[in-house]
Amino acid sequence: MNIKFLGAHNCESSTIRLVTLLIDDVLALDAGGLTSSLSIEAQLQLKAVLLTHQHYDHIRDVPAMAMNALFYETDIQVYSTQAVYEALAAHWLNGTTYANFLEKPQNNPRIKFTLIKPNEAVQIEGYSILAVPVSHSVPTVGYQVTSPDGKIVFYTGDTGPGLADCWQYVSPQLLITEVTAPNRYEEFGRRSRHLTPSLLKEELNAFQKSKGYLPPVILVHMNPREEEEIAAEIAPLAEELNTSITLAYEGMLVQL
Ligand SMILES: [Zn+2]
Ligand SMILES: [Zn+2]
Repeated sequence: MNIKFLGAHNCESSTIRLVTLLIDDVLALDAGGLTSSLSIEAQLQLKAVLLTHQHYDHIRDVPAMAMNALFYETDIQVYSTQAVYEALAAHWLNGTTYANFLEKPQNNPRIKFTLIKPNEAVQIEGYSILAVPVSHSVPTVGYQVTSPDGKIVFYTGDTGPGLADCWQYVSPQLLITEVTAPNRYEEFGRRSRHLTPSLLKEELNAFQKSKGYLPPVILVHMNPREEEEIAAEIAPLAEELNTSITLAYEGMLVQL
């Protein structure tokens, strides 16, 4: 399984992108930095776009993908929860902000949306996908992706403390989760449902206790302004927990 980090941050500029992961060139997890990172040809290769939740930084490129699909006479396969479908239909593809590609063109909508139910595995192109609810400010699911050759990654999406509830459903060889801000924002993290290094430590301790091991961890969704501070706090945590914890960056490639 090849994982490319197209976007690794919670802000966008000419050098950083909103969180988006690409697995084996065919599965996209979240869509904040998809069209800005991929050529049209690469976009046309995608078999599925899996969305964790409805926040702008995770669904941003869905309308742009759909417009490309229209002009290239194809469609895009989007998978997510009912909450994300409703948000897209009400605010994003509502016929006012942009064309309603969920229903148009009438006989062949450019977005084929498949509802995913939490904790029920679905098969997509030989990959087994399990959506697991996490604790964020809006309904959010993380995705465990198991490749045809048995490699397993779990991407939590945006999450606050309380991941212990979902560890029972997943057994990843690689964990991709978020740290948005450094430790001095712990109160902000608890309130807005994001992680800091100190909050991540509690979640990883719970993982170790529940599963008896700790996988390597890769972090995304960093606020670029605080990134050095986050990195300085993560280094001793990785040492203390005796596992690899890496901050992702745009273009980073990981082979599992
Ligand atoms: Zn969010
Ligand atoms: Zn976010």
